[in-house]
Amino acid sequence: MTTGAHAACAEAEQRLQAYVDRVLTTVEIAAIEAHLAACPPCARCYQLETEMRAHLKRVCDEPCPDSLKTRLRNLCAECDCDDAV
Ligand SMILES: [Zn+2]
Repeated sequence: MTTGAHAACAEAEQRLQAYVDRVLTTVEIAAIEAHLAACPPCARCYQLETEMRAHLKRVCDEPCPDSLKTRLRNLCAECDCDDAV
């Protein structure tokens, strides 16, 4: 299993939004949390995502702007997420 880690990163990234929104099942949440605990780049991505959301929610009730998403995505590039595709 050499591609397992990368696949997990891609999956975690895909579910990150839903995880932050708390719309996942407990099984999915457990899977994400397990990955975040074992993968620092993804954990940092999640941390930034939650911080940005909390901040934006306080400042204004608008959805995350694309520029911010791009920044998060660039930070996330440190992870091997893109190699999984
Ligand atoms: Zn990861």
